[in-house]
Amino acid sequence: MRILDLLFGTQRSFLERSLFTTVEVGLRYFLFAGLAWILAYWLFRRRWFHRKIIARFPMSADIRRELGYSLLTLVIFGVIGAGTIVASRAGYTQMYWRISDHGRGWFFGSVVCAIFLHDAYFYWTHRLMHHRLLFPIFHRVHHLSTNPSPWAAYAFAPAEAVVEASIFPVVALAMPIHPAAFGLVMLWQIFFNVAGHTGFEFHPRWLMNTPLRYFLNTPTNHVMHHEKMRGNYGLYFNIWDRLMGTNHPDYESRFREVTSRPLPSPLHSPTRTHEIKPPSGRPVPHRDDASCV
Ligand SMILES: [Zn+2]
Ligand SMILES: [Zn+2]
Repeated sequence: MRILDLLFGTQRSFLERSLFTTVEVGLRYFLFAGLAWILAYWLFRRRWFHRKIIARFPMSADIRRELGYSLLTLVIFGVIGAGTIVASRAGYTQMYWRISDHGRGWFFGSVVCAIFLHDAYFYWTHRLMHHRLLFPIFHRVHHLSTNPSPWAAYAFAPAEAVVEASIFPVVALAMPIHPAAFGLVMLWQIFFNVAGHTGFEFHPRWLMNTPLRYFLNTPTNHVMHHEKMRGNYGLYFNIWDRLMGTNHPDYESRFREVTSRPLPSPLHSPTRTHEIKPPSGRPVPHRDDASCV
């Protein structure tokens, strides 16, 4: 409860709240992205390479850029988080502070509802940010990563960071939510976000043969979005992309190709220049004026 008190206590200045929230969001980012980095880009780099969706590793300059923009995003998340807490303390949102006010059932129910709300919010704001007039201001920075690393999870331009952070006030306005429940939503968020950008397909091959493919999103889906600059706009689930017909036509076949690759031989040594050609050929180059809605 000490952490909750630091973040949500009544005696904090706005600066202190912003600082604590930035540190809290930063810890989550560095813990998950760092773990993904250690596992997939270091310890199991060779053993897992056959599951690398784009079969080469990102360049150091790309990773430095992703880290730089992510650090800026952490500060923006901290300020918007602090603003939401101040507004909630003043009674402008539906956030509540005692779990007993709505019971344990709603505590966990609100986590599920907020995850579905975030999925819809992400899909539609993402599509909007792909409009050719909005793309350069909001979303171009995130798409500089055509072969993302886990550090790209928060690599946003400041304007996009504001949009992404705004899910906190949106959820707090839309439903009664306890701060700890929103914390669980953010744990779910960072797991999917980092997994989607790490670039390794961890789902089993049979996923695409079951109805689960209509529901669950995969790292292949999001990596293809970075690679091709259009299609596959979803976050946690594949529901909106299926409903709106925005899955890339090659999505399922790409997933099957990635998950059917043979295990690496002991002599195999992946390097930055080693490349397994994806079935669709070369990645589509970045275009500043991309209109992908
Ligand atoms: Zn995009
Ligand atoms: Zn992305």
